[in-house]
Amino acid sequence: MIKVDYIIVGLGIAGISICEELEKNNKQFIAFDKGDYTSTIVSAGLINPVVLKRFTPVWNASSHISTSILFYNNLSKKIAIPLFEDMPMLRIFKSIEEQNNWMVASDKNELSNFLHPEIISNNNPNINAPFGFGKVKSTGKIDTSLLIKSYKEYLLNNNCLINEAFNYKELQQENNFIVYNNYRANKIIFSEGYATKNNPYFPKKIINNKNTSEKLIIPNKGEYIIVRSPKLQLNAMLKTSLFIIPLGENLYKVGATYDREDETIKTTKNAKTELVIKLKK
Ligand SMILES: Cc1cc2nc3c(=O)[nH]c(=O)nc-3n(C[C@H](O)[C@H](O)[C@H](O)COP(=O)(O)OP(=O)(O)OC[C@H]3O[C@@H](n4cnc5c(N)ncnc54)[C@H](O)[C@@H]3O)c2cc1C
Repeated sequence: MIKVDYIIVGLGIAGISICEELEKNNKQFIAFDKGDYTSTIVSAGLINPVVLKRFTPVWNASSHISTSILFYNNLSKKIAIPLFEDMPMLRIFKSIEEQNNWMVASDKNELSNFLHPEIISNNNPNINAPFGFGKVKSTGKIDTSLLIKSYKEYLLNNNCLINEAFNYKELQQENNFIVYNNYRANKIIFSEGYATKNNPYFPKKIINNKNTSEKLIIPNKGEYIIVRSPKLQLNAMLKTSLFIIPLGENLYKVGATYDREDETIKTTKNAKTELVIKLKK
């Protein structure tokens, strides 16, 4: 029997953050990941402290931004891979009213660190932005595919990762320990992303003091397209009704869609059509 402090199930950004914290505290762990269904790889990997629809800060923005940028920079050094790219974000204004709202928001205490208090005029003929842009500070992006790939290699080299699905039926509790195959742990942490909806240990909705079969997790599916545009020549991330994110070599990631009905991981023609129509605008 191999003794560890923790078993971790799922290695998206949540699982990686937990592994990092455990390692920092000299705890032994083994992680399980089946390698599919990962939102972290699909995501745009944007670090952005502001909700750009209504110009409000995200929850605990200041502490999250400083912690996350430090976290990714330290991780980059540790696994010797460039993960974080500092990149400005420009919000296209749709009207004079939006320009005014931006100026008012940029004067507010919690936003003044993040919203540049100027209207930037557009001099790129390939962008439709007659009312100009607002610039968000402290933004950037993470190469999430590279992060997952490199971090898994790091854990495999340290014998801390099993590349397979965790089977809930094999999990046993013995005295104060968790036993799974030939591992014995003090604790288990599930960081399975939206697959938590399949986890029998995760609570269901409680109505009138009773556990119902209704799920507490409502997945939100998102799709992107990648376009090539030699004319666009964009060095910042653009936010309109979509995000347009430079990937280098004239490629741009454009999206995302939001779908709470479709729980499959397949890409769809509908999403592509929706994104192309919005992009043309
Ligand atoms: C289209 C889209 C764009 C997004 N863009 C951004 C963005 O720009 N910035 C941002 O901050 N957030 C963004 N997000 C949100 C972000 O991606 C998620 O909040 C985050 O990735 C969730 O990470 P996680 O580790 O909780 O889950 P996941 O990344 O889904 O990881 C869960 C892991 O658990 C594994 N797993 C599940 N069940 C089991 C099992 N039984 N056994 C073994 N392994 C298992 C899966 O294989 C997976 O690797 C976006 C999301 C989407 C869908």
